[in-house]
Amino acid sequence: MTDEIYPWFHDAWTAIHDNEKLPHALLFKGKAGIGKGKFARTFAKSYLCHNPLHHHLACDGCKSCSWFPDTHPDFKYIVPMEDEEDESKKRKMVRQKNIVIDQIRELSEYLELSAHQEKGRRIILIEPADALNQAASNALLKILEEPPANTLFILVTSHAQKLIATIRSRCQLLELRGPSLQEATSYLQGQAIHIPEHLLSFSGNSPFTAMNEMEHQSEREVITKLLSQGHRIDFTQVNYSILTQGLDWTLSIIQKWTFDLLLHFHTHQTYYFKKEEAHIESQTKQMNMDVLLSFVNELNALKKIASHPINQELQLENIFVKFKQVFEPS
Ligand SMILES: [Zn+2]
Repeated sequence: MTDEIYPWFHDAWTAIHDNEKLPHALLFKGKAGIGKGKFARTFAKSYLCHNPLHHHLACDGCKSCSWFPDTHPDFKYIVPMEDEEDESKKRKMVRQKNIVIDQIRELSEYLELSAHQEKGRRIILIEPADALNQAASNALLKILEEPPANTLFILVTSHAQKLIATIRSRCQLLELRGPSLQEATSYLQGQAIHIPEHLLSFSGNSPFTAMNEMEHQSEREVITKLLSQGHRIDFTQVNYSILTQGLDWTLSIIQKWTFDLLLHFHTHQTYYFKKEEAHIESQTKQMNMDVLLSFVNELNALKKIASHPINQELQLENIFVKFKQVFEPS
């Protein structure tokens, strides 16, 4: 089967091939859930292919294609290390996974060996690059400062601001735009996947985020129901079940709700919660803007540390208490 380039990436695919001399390092940046990783792997395969087809896609018939990705001697794919899961009886903790220094040291040793093929090209794909921890980032920076010949680094991220600036500045940026609602809908239809439109909007039109969200519908509904209650929030519903996907995930839903409160306040429209527009509208009439803005800041601050092991239930309870205060008369 020939590789496919998602329709919303066609321009980026052309742009990358119009680039006559590629730099040492590329940074693929764009929203989560739009297929950046697959795009990067498709590019890596075609870049190493011996007989690329029309439109630069890999041939799928040469030796290089048959090796790709797992046994290709000129391709290194660096992803976060799997942590053993926490078998806590209460719930599954979602732990942060990092790309660690040992992985970059190993890469360094690999790079000292010469490229295997006659074509002499190597690709190092790092995904997601924002998972590089501090020590690994510094080690990678050293490599990028004196880049080995005939080696192309590709870093993929949805959070470019989390990369250290000195790494960012050594990469040429390729912005990958996500699909419009219409593009996402017709892509999913073509795959015979049905995702309700409100869920696609909730996922910021990212088809793969929406597919993932389909699986967590019941947890999301509990959180949405809580948020809809505003100042009448039922705290007995704030329990472990809404943390099964981790505090980070739960907070991102609350962030989307506050985004819609602000958006509706100014434009009378919602972006993420189309189905709950009536609740949002009535909340905008009760809310205290100053309290909401400080609540938003607090959410952002907590989100930064949300994937670290902190007391998640306590933090979440505290967040809902503060959410309620947004709608209380001062
Ligand atoms: Zn090939």
